[in-house]
Amino acid sequence: MSFTAIELIQTKRDGDELSPEAIKWLVHGYTEGTIPDYQMSAMAMAIFFSGMTPGELAVWTEAMLHSGEVMDFSMIAKPKIDKHSTGGVGDKISIPLVPLVACCGVAIPMISGRGLGHTGGTLDKLETITGFKTSLDPYTFRRILQEHGLVLAGQSHTIVPADRKLYALRDASGTVPSIPLIASSIMSKKLAEGLDGLLLDVKVGSGAFMKDLDHARQLARTMVGIGASHKVETVAYITRMDQPLGAEIGNANEIAESIDVLRGEGPSDVTELTMIFAEAMLEMGGIDGGRERLEEAIESGAALAKFREAAIAHGGDPASIDDPSLLPRAPLVDTVTAPRDGYVTRCDALVIGVTATRLGAGRELKKDKIDPGVGITVMGKVGSKVKEGDPLARVRFADSERWESHRELLESAWVIEDSPITASPLVVERIDRNAI
Ligand code: URA
Repeated sequence: MSFTAIELIQTKRDGDELSPEAIKWLVHGYTEGTIPDYQMSAMAMAIFFSGMTPGELAVWTEAMLHSGEVMDFSMIAKPKIDKHSTGGVGDKISIPLVPLVACCGVAIPMISGRGLGHTGGTLDKLETITGFKTSLDPYTFRRILQEHGLVLAGQSHTIVPADRKLYALRDASGTVPSIPLIASSIMSKKLAEGLDGLLLDVKVGSGAFMKDLDHARQLARTMVGIGASHKVETVAYITRMDQPLGAEIGNANEIAESIDVLRGEGPSDVTELTMIFAEAMLEMGGIDGGRERLEEAIESGAALAKFREAAIAHGGDPASIDDPSLLPRAPLVDTVTAPRDGYVTRCDALVIGVTATRLGAGRELKKDKIDPGVGITVMGKVGSKVKEGDPLARVRFADSERWESHRELLESAWVIEDSPITASPLVVERIDRNAI
């Protein structure tokens, strides 16, 4: 059967269903370059508004998964478990989590993404370590996993190439927050990894792509369902993303904070979520010892040593892991201060994420290069008691004009009131296949 992209865009635009053949043709054609970006971005926008039926989503995910190599790590005796987040502000959890879990006996073949919209991406963060290579061919991917028990790479020409292209296109076309597009993007990457188990962190709140619990649940159930249909044990945690995770936002900033977590000196929210996910991953892998074993890996320095080992295996220079002051830093610094005495009752993740992106920590166009040293350090988290003039955030930037035109936006992230409130618990609920 022959198709045209225009007809298929019109079909989806009008809310009709695409046939399996049409979906396969479209995903294949886009991956191969016969369907141009402008037609695929129109299709992504049509999907954003019209959604997908469960049947369409299953075929779309399968087509993305098989756009490249589906890896088989059955020769690795360890349990193969991975984690993926739907994206948040200051969400650097994967970076301390992967070496921590790897040094307790789980193998982690992680395929991650770059920054998406106002959220940062694991690959951009890792690449702030000089020489750290995240674009790997399947042979090198397998070799690093076998030798070190972990590998952190991106989509490539051979590993989920459809997501590699579509992910960057959605980032620049306002089509990220769509349940079928997020679910197929995440699950195609994860199913290509030959996993035994998958932990999903589905973020909900102002700084997440899912703003309310109903949509977060729908996304979580959709992905758990796709995992179950591929016989990969998949568990989703819905976690709050109303304020940034930790204090650091920005690529190098987040590597520095991840190192703090691995040293046992990280902020309590990042440390706690890392531990909750690490414990769940050990449990999924049938590894005993849980929290005690993880705490021992941090206290003994084994988890940090594993991160250093991983950086070297990816071609990186470990000097900035040993001394994080060597990480890139934008040259200019300013602070946002409290306009009055009181308690912080809001510290808006979306506003802070958008500001960091616009200052250069993320991309507005597909071709944009990020500035690894741009970042925001948040001191005024929800619940903090502040006096007028106390710093709420420190901003590192390279372009004064850009900063001055975003200062007011960033200042609007905070609300200070007379009475304190306590931040909501981080974990809202856990969804596994019994809950769908
Ligand atoms: N993470 C992904 O890998 N894809 C998305 O679409 C959103 C978050």
